[in-house]
Amino acid sequence: MNETAPTTTISVPALGLRPTRTDTAPLPAYESHSSLSTYEGCPLRYAFRYVERVPGEERPGQYAFGSAVHRAFEVYVRERIRARVDGGPPPDPELLRLVLDEELTGSGLPPDAIEDARRRAEPALARFLAMDATRDAEPVAVELGFGADVVLPDGAGAIRFVGYLDRVDRAPDGSTEIVDYKTGRARDQADVHRDRQLTAYAYAAARGALRDPTTGAILPPASRLGLYFADTGTLLWTTRDADRLAAFEAWLGATGAGIHGRDFPARPERWRCDWCEYGKSCAASAAPPDPAGASGGAA
Ligand code: SF4
Repeated sequence: MNETAPTTTISVPALGLRPTRTDTAPLPAYESHSSLSTYEGCPLRYAFRYVERVPGEERPGQYAFGSAVHRAFEVYVRERIRARVDGGPPPDPELLRLVLDEELTGSGLPPDAIEDARRRAEPALARFLAMDATRDAEPVAVELGFGADVVLPDGAGAIRFVGYLDRVDRAPDGSTEIVDYKTGRARDQADVHRDRQLTAYAYAAARGALRDPTTGAILPPASRLGLYFADTGTLLWTTRDADRLAAFEAWLGATGAGIHGRDFPARPERWRCDWCEYGKSCAASAAPPDPAGASGGAA
């Protein structure tokens, strides 16, 4: 784990959202990098979201921009793959804008926010086309799912580790290149080297868990992994060696063992609870109380 945090369970006040079924409710059948990272940050948040399935607070349109841009990239590259496989013409670049518009229109954002998102996204689409044109690797898959069983330490069973990759390309030498799209702030090279989600993807590839959706063949391990930042058009690459992959597998095992042991302490920190979808209702929250009143217990 990469966060320092107290390990004792906080006693939860009588009022507010608190766990009620974490000892008995079924555990999830699958774990992702996101779910395991949630557990690492605050096991109680994991329990609310993944064990008790308590609906959290979401701001309307919170993910609209990122989802629309991701979807536009996905559809366009999927059409590129289809054209290569079927021998048809490449997709019209206009497809990017059409998909973006459709996604934003159905996002639930108010009209002025849709217009803002469109203004921000249009240059990002142009940058994406420019980046795509410079790639000498050919796209193989988009939104590619994977699953790998990970054995937990001390005979605690196993977890099914799953995920989706934004894009998988085949390099001219036949190796696999994995690209993840980011629509938030751009990060620097050191941050990309540290990125654990990329390590998860490299781990899946090294485990032989990625298959070419056209041929069904297992894709070779990743020769490099990249984060593409849509707001700047920057594509930064990194690699993962065997030691990093072994450390990642150990983290999967330790985190999965905590979940299987149903160890769900609260780890309230002001910054964490401010961002948590249960921050205004959780009885253990370190966020300031909601002036309109607590949302109340939901379990
Ligand atoms: S509000 Fe804070 S303590 Fe409560 S679940 Fe969220 S992160 Fe954990």
